[in-house]
Amino acid sequence: MEQKIRVRFAPSPTGPLHMGGVRTALFNYLFAKKNNGDFLLRIEDTDQHRYVPGAEEYIIESLKWCGLSPDEGVGIGGPYGPYRQSERKQLYFKYAEQLIKSGNAYYAFDTPEELTQLRTKAESEKKNFSYDTHTRKELKNSLTLSEKTVNEKIKNGEPWIIRFKMPENETVTEDDLIRGTVKFNTAQLDDKVLYKADGMPTYHLANVVDDHLMKITHVIRGEEWLSSMPLHILLYRALGWEENKPRFAHLPLILKPVGKGKLSKRDGDKMGFPVFPIEWNNPETKENFRGYREDGYYPEAFINMLSLLGWNAGDDQELFSLKELIEKFSLEHVGKSGARFNPEKAKWFNHQYLQKRDEKELTENLHEQLNQKNIPSGNLDRLARIVSLIKDRCTFASELWDNAFYFFEAPKEYEAKAVKKRWKKDTPYKIREITDFLRGVENWNAESMKEVFSNFITEKEWSFGQIMVPLRLSLVGSSQGVDMFLILELLGKEETIKRLETAVEKIGKQQI
Ligand code: GLU
Repeated sequence: MEQKIRVRFAPSPTGPLHMGGVRTALFNYLFAKKNNGDFLLRIEDTDQHRYVPGAEEYIIESLKWCGLSPDEGVGIGGPYGPYRQSERKQLYFKYAEQLIKSGNAYYAFDTPEELTQLRTKAESEKKNFSYDTHTRKELKNSLTLSEKTVNEKIKNGEPWIIRFKMPENETVTEDDLIRGTVKFNTAQLDDKVLYKADGMPTYHLANVVDDHLMKITHVIRGEEWLSSMPLHILLYRALGWEENKPRFAHLPLILKPVGKGKLSKRDGDKMGFPVFPIEWNNPETKENFRGYREDGYYPEAFINMLSLLGWNAGDDQELFSLKELIEKFSLEHVGKSGARFNPEKAKWFNHQYLQKRDEKELTENLHEQLNQKNIPSGNLDRLARIVSLIKDRCTFASELWDNAFYFFEAPKEYEAKAVKKRWKKDTPYKIREITDFLRGVENWNAESMKEVFSNFITEKEWSFGQIMVPLRLSLVGSSQGVDMFLILELLGKEETIKRLETAVEKIGKQQI
């Protein structure tokens, strides 16, 4: 039987999930669903110093908002739990010990102070200190000390850590599913810590052990983890799990909209767009970061936009439902090079999804906005028609009011620039004439009005162009808005006439 595909999203709760993290979750989710596999959520919280309260809840809430529900994991459970690494604390030591026994790891007793000294010294010589195949030979560890001394130190309660014993000069080769063959020479790598003095494994050990125990078949993660891959591969080998180690796929970076480098959490504030899926209030620093959700994005639009950061369907299709993404997704179509994030495109997606939204929902949105302003919504059919007329001018549902206000409120003032340019001496006279004409119109609907109105203007030998802006100014207060005749129809005869009369009176005064 074919092995069941199992992937995991394994964030560390060190802060809110950046949109790059959501994209990692999304690609894992799509890959799992496409292959009838399982998508797991594992929380990697072994670094107690970097733990941020609320971050785990934030991650769970973000995935929920995006509709990426895990099959197993924190908050859900499953046969390979617990899924929070701090709750698995007990099980890692035996693997670290196994690595020591097999000669792949060692105890190190160097104190943090001693290591800092070495680092400072190296810096003063413009070098970098690393605990590696060379330096380990002169440091305090179970490779240099006698077995007796090591045992004594441990017995006396001296703090120790466990480090990986990097092979001296070996090329590690791996076939990354996105990058192809990647080679690393161990001479360039250091002896990473696997187990810490606080009794916790490091990310590297816990990650490999858990991927193995949870039967993960594919590790799909951000490019920043590529440099950890050789160590992970060597760990699989050292633990005797090489045969069924997972395949690796390292996703491309998400780049800033302009300039160089990786999109960072600060870019959003600087350039005015959200970088986080949902709002984040840092409980410690009291910093606040805006979210796509609170900015009024639909999760479907956000997900669709993210899916195209590094992936394409092989053609130029841009709009995909989650279901379609599942059908079409493949790692072969994920690129190697960084994907530039375009905030305008994010808005474009939201605009597209708003157009597809159920009009009842949008009508309800506008209804609420009116309620909040204590403005009566009036007839609901009329409200629905207004929504259908203005929605293509909206990127966010919150803009419904901005585009519909004139159907509910008479202008309080008139756009000065347009008045200056288009409100001529004879305009009041013309508007009065039009008002009288409209009083007599019986069939108050846009289509027939357009016809009789055109006839009227032609008879008068007035220019259509010259009268439209003043008319719009009178009814809307500015030169914006939907088709003039639809505005007339939806305002109704009485309100239209009232607004025309008021405009003649007020614009005259405004001009003095
Ligand atoms: N805990 C790591 C992170 O925060 C997981 C990296 C991996 O997927 O191996 O992203």
